[in-house]
Amino acid sequence: MSGQVIDGKAVAAQVRDRVAAGVQELATANDGRTPGLATVLVGEDPASQVYVGNKRKQAAEAGMRSIDEQLLEATPEDELLELIDELNGDDSVDGILVQLPLPEQIDQDAVIERIDPAKDVDGLTAVNAGLLAQGRPGLVPCTPQGVIELLREAGAELEGSEAVIVGRSILVGRPLASLLLGENATVTVCHSRTRDLAGVCSRADVLVAAVGSPRLIGREMVKPGAFVIDVGTNRTDDGLVGDVDFDAVREVAAAITPVPGGVGPMTIAMLLSNTLEAAVRRARV
Ligand code: NAP
Repeated sequence: MSGQVIDGKAVAAQVRDRVAAGVQELATANDGRTPGLATVLVGEDPASQVYVGNKRKQAAEAGMRSIDEQLLEATPEDELLELIDELNGDDSVDGILVQLPLPEQIDQDAVIERIDPAKDVDGLTAVNAGLLAQGRPGLVPCTPQGVIELLREAGAELEGSEAVIVGRSILVGRPLASLLLGENATVTVCHSRTRDLAGVCSRADVLVAAVGSPRLIGREMVKPGAFVIDVGTNRTDDGLVGDVDFDAVREVAAAITPVPGGVGPMTIAMLLSNTLEAAVRRARV
């Protein structure tokens, strides 16, 4: 029996529709003012250009104002910090996204920390990370939020479940652990020093892989009937593959996300959702 394949493109389209409706509602209540998302791209890395291009396009399609900032690869850190200060102070900007990674002359942490937490739509500042760790409202990183949305959509029962996350990055693993705790799951986070990864993973009712290692998670590591979410994106000779051996694991899982077409499309959808949320909160202040 093969498990359900969770259609991330379809779920992301539903989220975008919901956001577009919210943008119109906010504009009606707010003298026609729509949320503004500022995206900052430093340099000309081809992958980053594609990601930022998609973010700008989808923000505009959702009815938002896209404020596009493009800086040269050699931009010094203080120039980027000045731009962040300007965007922080610009009342028409509700969300600020700095595309990562940044060129090596720039301290990434210093740039992230400069963003006003109320406009930090990537949810990466220490303030938002701290609020999430304490289970308090704030702006939550987009990819882990997308994972929760996919699990809900697939009908996973999170409360009381055994959830295992492989990967402990500040972008995915750690914030996802807080979100799953907030859903009353029992959460285990694995990493490169975990002993008996297979043994821990095979206990999971909900298994999320966020590693960056092609097909690391094999069938023998998955409990029959588990919900499996694959965040990994790995470019290989066979094309783009995830951290999960999709064909083999699908045979035992209740539901599984494909790569591509699973978590990927959700990330930008949740960015738009965060931008709307930031705009609504700022409109209330
Ligand atoms: P990261 O910062 O490189 O973190 C990788 C994590 O995996 C680390 O915690 C590392 O452990 C752990 N790890 C490495 N090898 C392992 C092993 N053999 N066994 C167990 N754990 C191991 O990566 P990330 O930013 O979280 O991204 C992870 C993957 O998700 C990447 O493929 C990335 O491209 C993808 N991603 C996709 C999206 C999307 O929108 N689809 C968004 C974000 C990321 P240590 O901490 O011990 O080093």
